[in-house]
Amino acid sequence: MNFLPTLTGSLSQPAADNPTVAIMEAAYAHHSLHYRYINMDVPPALLADAVRGAKAQGYVGFNCSLPHKVAIIEHLDGLAESARIIGAVNCAVQRDGKWIGENTDGKGFLHSLTPVVNPTGTHVVILGAGGASRAIAVELALAGATRVTIVNRAADRGQELAKLVNEKTRAQATFVHWEHEYSLPGDADVVVNATSIGLAPDWHARVPVVADSFPSQAVVADVIPNPPRTLFLGEAEARGCRILDGLGMLVNQAATNFHFWTGVEPDKDVMRRVLEQVFGA
Ligand code: NDP
Repeated sequence: MNFLPTLTGSLSQPAADNPTVAIMEAAYAHHSLHYRYINMDVPPALLADAVRGAKAQGYVGFNCSLPHKVAIIEHLDGLAESARIIGAVNCAVQRDGKWIGENTDGKGFLHSLTPVVNPTGTHVVILGAGGASRAIAVELALAGATRVTIVNRAADRGQELAKLVNEKTRAQATFVHWEHEYSLPGDADVVVNATSIGLAPDWHARVPVVADSFPSQAVVADVIPNPPRTLFLGEAEARGCRILDGLGMLVNQAATNFHFWTGVEPDKDVMRRVLEQVFGA
């Protein structure tokens, strides 16, 4: 074993309490991998220096969070397909001597969904049109969803995302302006709350959808990881829907990063247990 561990990390701002550090370190230890995951506060003006530093210090890869997800692109050698379409990178990985940008948010969601439902041919309804929604919409469209309905309060953001899906994937996307309580379409196969509504400490905030409109055949997912059990998921479950919490997306996103960097498929149960401790689930 080398004395120095293989380095991975996160270029973020501010560091805050980054649960990814706890998940990655626990998984490296569980798999006896001599790796470390280090969180680094990087001011936007010093991003280029931080990337040069990571390369010089032998990092095999790194995550980057807001506000670096778009600015990082010019410091990389290329982009994977979904990251190119989404226009944002949260994971950098070395392939054939090149630094490639990936977006593992959407992949994390996809991998949490596929054990429950195959997205091929599905109608997906996504509430929200921010970064999480964009990653999920593109990844599910690339995975074979045929219809994507984007529901958003700000019309410009929602229209832009529907246009992106229509132009860059084979799925057919429609935008719905979210002004009042939204009634979910009865033929939805997958419904995703990809807004920030319900995130702690505002866990009591209700996603404005008509409670009776959850189609019982649908899989209903929430991106909110904290608390894992949201009011939105509670309403869906009460109407007979299968539910997926935001911890699943977070675990699968971290597991995808882990696999990209180490080539090892991590034990996701270990990662999930760590997150449950972090969020007191
Ligand atoms: P953005 O700020 O980019 O987007 C937020 C979205 O929520 C927008 O569509 C916004 O609508 C909508 N929204 C917020 N408040 C309201 C409201 N009161 N009524 C209607 N719509 C509202 O955030 P992100 O997309 O980056 O993140 C969204 C959430 O996803 C966060 O809570 C984050 O924690 C979570 N997340 C979870 C991940 C996981 O692995 N589980 C990974 C990434 C994110 P509008 O455009 O009209 O403002």
